Amino acid sequence: MSKTLFQRIADREIPAQIVYEDEQVVAFRDINPQAPTHILIVPRKPIARIGEAVPEDQALIGHLLLKAAEVARQVGLTNGYRLVFNHGRDGGEAVPHLHCHILGGRALGWPPG
Ligand code: AMP
Repeated sequence: MSKTLFQRIADREIPAQIVYEDEQVVAFRDINPQAPTHILIVPRKPIARIGEAVPEDQALIGHLLLKAAEVARQVGLTNGYRLVFNHGRDGGEAVPHLHCHILGGRALGWPPG
């Protein structure tokens, strides 16, 4: 099976501004930022989307969320931030490799558009 876009970023085959990585996850700046800080954190494992994660992914998803909070802290989002998973067409998903958006640096509206 061919690699996903985000696997290629994680493997450094496509350039990206990587801000954190470990053996399980990689965080990098979004190429089309929707807020002053917009980072994506992805598992190295190519799970397509959150709704396709399986029970054996529980520790990985937990790790990803804890690292998302750590990255937000490290980049200085002291006023707050939002974590978003887009699932499917109505959810606005464009890249079929599970990713959590870390958005901050401005007040974010609610409800989302
Ligand atoms: P989603 O709509 O939730 O699937 O989000 C996909 C995100 O990936 C969008 O915010 C894109 O701007 C971002 N994106 C697409 N290609 C790249 C890339 N090469 N490097 C960084 N971010 C990307």
